[in-house]
Amino acid sequence: MMIVVMKSSANAKEVGVVIKKVRELGFEPHLSRGEKKSIVGVLGSEKHLDPEIFLVLPGVENVVPILQPFKQASREFKSESTVVVLDGTRIGGDNDVVIMAGPCAVESAEQTLAAAEAVAAAGAKVLRGGAFKPRTSPYSFQGLGEEGLKILKMASEKTGLAIVTEVMSPQTVDLVAAYADIMQVGARNMQNYPLLEAVGRTTKPILLKRGLMSTIEELLMAAEYILAKGNPNVILCERGIRSFEKYTRNTLDISAVPIIKKLSHLPVIVDPSHATGQRDLVAPVSKSAIAAGADGLIIEVHPEPEKALSDGAQSLHPEEFVELMAGLGQIAEAVGRGL
Ligand code: PEP
Ligand code: MN
Repeated sequence: MMIVVMKSSANAKEVGVVIKKVRELGFEPHLSRGEKKSIVGVLGSEKHLDPEIFLVLPGVENVVPILQPFKQASREFKSESTVVVLDGTRIGGDNDVVIMAGPCAVESAEQTLAAAEAVAAAGAKVLRGGAFKPRTSPYSFQGLGEEGLKILKMASEKTGLAIVTEVMSPQTVDLVAAYADIMQVGARNMQNYPLLEAVGRTTKPILLKRGLMSTIEELLMAAEYILAKGNPNVILCERGIRSFEKYTRNTLDISAVPIIKKLSHLPVIVDPSHATGQRDLVAPVSKSAIAAGADGLIIEVHPEPEKALSDGAQSLHPEEFVELMAGLGQIAEAVGRGL
């Protein structure tokens, strides 16, 4: 696969000729119009293509092969950072750091609304909460399903927060998409290829979490599945990986943030809650994530963590979230971002 870089003087007809040529050769053209130049991505099978075919066409400046195995997710394919746009909130690029917060699971209307009101007042832009929960034990609380989605919608309407919630199966993608502003693919499902393809066929923003034992390259290849189906709105999430360390639930790979930013144009956020598993570690890890260049955070907050049906030990009390938010602004400012 390669990209055909057009001259800044190239006209629409010349771009059209390149696109037609790409199709004739059995590849899929992907046009992106930059501020100065247009670029035509040549997507398709791995079969070899001679760059000369394009170099001789009028208006073509250069032909560059995409060497990374993740093609559309790579900075080689798209040098400009992707900005995922929600109603009123922009994630990625030079935009403000976006905070997503809320309970691990939607447990009741009262609990979810209390969490939503608290995090909205403290400056969060997106409400998190699982209606479909991937639990290690089949006997643990599995979430409220569609009832949970309705509760999220109600809380969103009352607070103005957007909704991020997990989708676990291809069969429920349409249902979750009807309520969510961002659909989350959880760590356990990062390599569930039918699910990745199903969310890739929608246009909803997707929050793709790094698998428990996945490399950064595997995460980017998972994102590629979504992009390859036509959905460009992917946000990546570092949420800690398995290691031998026992003082934390997972080991946060902070270097994943700058590494992904170098390799990919997609926004990257960090989940300090699942990364650490402990409330008292959420604040320092949140600060380090923003300092490392994260485009956002997703944080668990529960009105009464002691009574939470899941992940109470890592969920912040509302007052702790308020205090954390007050401290994050300065860190964001220090790295040239807002909050
Ligand atoms: C979650 O965010 O609720 C969750 C289950 O996280 P992860 O998939 O990262 O374990
Ligand atoms: Mn959780």
